[in-house]
Amino acid sequence: MLSDIAISRAATLLPIGEIARRAGIDEAALEPHGRFKAKIDLAALPDRGTRRGKLILVTATNPTPAGEGKTTTSVGLDDALNLIGRKTMLALREPSLGPCFGTKGGATGGGYAQVVPMEEINLHFTGDFHAITAAHNLLAAMIDNHVYWGNALGIDTRRVSWRRVLDVNDRALRSVAAGLGGAANGFARETGFDITVASEVMAIFCLARDIEDLQARLGRIIVARTRDGRAITARDLKADGAMTVLLKDAIKPNLVQTLEGNPALIHGGPFANIAHGCNSLIATETALGLADYVVTEAGFGADLGAEKFFDIKCRQAGLAPDAAVIVTTVRALKMNGGVAKADLGAEDAAAVARGVANLERHIENVRQFGVPAIVAVNAFAGDTPAEYAAVFEAAERQGTRAILCRHWAEGGAGAVELAEAVAEIADRGGASFAPLYADNLPLRDKIETVATRIYRASAIALDPHSERQLARWESEGFGALPVCMAKTQYSFSVDPTLLGAPHGHVIPVREVRLAAGAGFVVAICGDLMTMPGLPRTPAAEAIRIDERGQIDGLF
Ligand code: ADP
Ligand code: MG
Repeated sequence: MLSDIAISRAATLLPIGEIARRAGIDEAALEPHGRFKAKIDLAALPDRGTRRGKLILVTATNPTPAGEGKTTTSVGLDDALNLIGRKTMLALREPSLGPCFGTKGGATGGGYAQVVPMEEINLHFTGDFHAITAAHNLLAAMIDNHVYWGNALGIDTRRVSWRRVLDVNDRALRSVAAGLGGAANGFARETGFDITVASEVMAIFCLARDIEDLQARLGRIIVARTRDGRAITARDLKADGAMTVLLKDAIKPNLVQTLEGNPALIHGGPFANIAHGCNSLIATETALGLADYVVTEAGFGADLGAEKFFDIKCRQAGLAPDAAVIVTTVRALKMNGGVAKADLGAEDAAAVARGVANLERHIENVRQFGVPAIVAVNAFAGDTPAEYAAVFEAAERQGTRAILCRHWAEGGAGAVELAEAVAEIADRGGASFAPLYADNLPLRDKIETVATRIYRASAIALDPHSERQLARWESEGFGALPVCMAKTQYSFSVDPTLLGAPHGHVIPVREVRLAAGAGFVVAICGDLMTMPGLPRTPAAEAIRIDERGQIDGLF
């Protein structure tokens, strides 16, 4: 089998105008960026705001180093639905440069289930992340500048929480001293950089309904506190207007195509720990207005990704998903059943039968939201029938089906059975979506509800300082916000090595943060990395371009 980039490069792409025509996007709404990418001017879309499509979430069992393939399966399912005559559109996240040059690689799917042109999508694409970086850092500069010119708002320089961002993994910037060198350079203070996808601007970008809502949310960002604890917002600094201007083009969703020539929107890409981990609401809504079915992905496993998709994005936007696909692999379930990564090559149906506990837990969890779930088994070379049988049995025990999918090797044709089952579930209309907890539940109880009902913990451990902060935010009027859990993606617990389906553990909440613009309260459970580092041998070392402009080493 060829590498992902070799398959992508060998593909004959359709001109983006043709993709737009297939999607039903008017020529007048198309803003081409080169031949194979375009932004969509929503103002020129006639039916904007009418949601007619069925919304299908692709999520997964807990990630393992063995890989699950959510993006790959999202693309394969989209192609398969189109293949069986269902007008379907994809809505996915934009990749971050951090993982592209680090360990994980790009985020455009794999094998014969990819969105293309993969190099461009994985690299600068249409510049959205750069615009978000600029908007974020403009606000940072305006804070320091405000203090420099006399600090009329009375910002306590020890309590500036707004850091700077960069879309590169760079551990040396996690903690920096800014403003050194004397009075002419401002005031010296300790700060640091996060990766762009961790920026609250990114989360806002992905939850905003339109440009007015974008500006209103940017204005609500709390950047600092005064000595007496009063919140200072981006609007207090009069930064919201200029930040919105920097984002005016970025906010238009990006149109590309799958290898099979089906339209895909790729827009926004917030972290799935400190933020909610799904593509922009604007892209999702645009797709829902254009297609009969919309396939979208949420980051990490269903305990983090699906929960936030439901409790944050769907709650805020009033979306009602029709079905969820839980992606898993035999290899991942073997690891959940206790097999070491080095031993994944050997058949071990007994380990799969132990590991399915993880899958079963996720099926139960998705159902708690009133959304019917089906399992996609992403086939890897070397899987065996006995191992598949163990997955099928687990799904049946949960009253659903697991369907073997070969889209990675075969494209959409390899996922037709999944597409038929998903369309049938979505058409049946059996979903009765409801978020897990009510808006008016106290913030502490919201965290506890997710911990006990989704992670199956016995309790949360919240220190008195965090407890006081939550109480303060409630008194400041933020009590109705949902919570955004930041926890390891590898386990239902906070111990990344505790695989399978642990229960009865305690979820320690180390820190809480208010993201007033995004509209959620982040509960940080365990270690949280908002600026990743590069590995010993970063992918960047192998990335090359030749004299014909052909890129190698991206994956
Ligand atoms: P996720 O979205 O869950 O992070 P991706 O879909 O991005 O996962 O897939 C991660 C990697 O695994 C990609 O490089 C992809 O090519 C590879 N992959 C996915 N499915 C398969 C498969 N069935 N066989 C081999 N490799 C696969
Ligand atoms: Mg993905």
